[in-house]
Amino acid sequence: MTQTPGASASPPPASPAAGALTPAQALGWMHTARFLTTAPKLEFLPPHDHPEIAFVGRSNAGKSTCINTLTQQKRLAFASKTPGRTQSINLFSLGKQGQTDAVLADLPGYGYAAVPKQDKLRWQQVMANYLVTRDNLRGVVLLCDPRHGLTELDEILLEVIRPRVEAGLKFLVILTKSDKLNKQEQAKALSIARLNAGGGDVRLFSALKKQGVEEVAHLLWQWTHPEPAAQAGPAQ
Ligand code: GDP
Repeated sequence: MTQTPGASASPPPASPAAGALTPAQALGWMHTARFLTTAPKLEFLPPHDHPEIAFVGRSNAGKSTCINTLTQQKRLAFASKTPGRTQSINLFSLGKQGQTDAVLADLPGYGYAAVPKQDKLRWQQVMANYLVTRDNLRGVVLLCDPRHGLTELDEILLEVIRPRVEAGLKFLVILTKSDKLNKQEQAKALSIARLNAGGGDVRLFSALKKQGVEEVAHLLWQWTHPEPAAQAGPAQ
């Protein structure tokens, strides 16, 4: 095989494939997030043609902070401990130049002690229905405070989505507030979560120290922009 003189001296350029983004560019893409709509009930969620990524997690896990950090917006998602407020599904559009190429869905945090039992059950049902029936759901991000680990409700959620994960749904566990753990605790939390994530990815994340932010943004970009080859399978 002939080579251009000098070509072997330098490694191939690390530029991404056409259409692909670097992690830093993926963060820029996340910054385009804007409010799309809020739905108090599943049947009010508008259908759309874009890949959707759902953020779920126990109340206080750090979900709102994570969404705001990823999108670099102070109040896109906000935590409210008022039951009436938290019980809506909020959608955000993503995409440059006002064009939408993905949608984020912020699902209500669960497990908050002060919510009446009836409301809790109703919301577990709404969440389960969403996770099972939402057609264009491409991935689920489960937020977890590693100091508490996966709770019983997290486990139920894992069970609910397992068949879809087996059928190709992307799944990521974000271990939030990692700045509260030392290196050893972080490593331990990672390995425990990997055991429980049922084949999903696991990442450490700190809004305070900006740990994992670019990485997660990049992953979400890749989920919503799969390479054509991966979509279409081998060429005929
Ligand atoms: P949500 O109920 O899941 O939306 O949780 P929030 O985003 O409101 O976060 C719950 C609490 O955890 C708040 O007091 C946040 O300031 C705190 N928190 C969230 N993310 C981080 C983080 O990365 N580091 C630290 N130290 N605290 C965090």
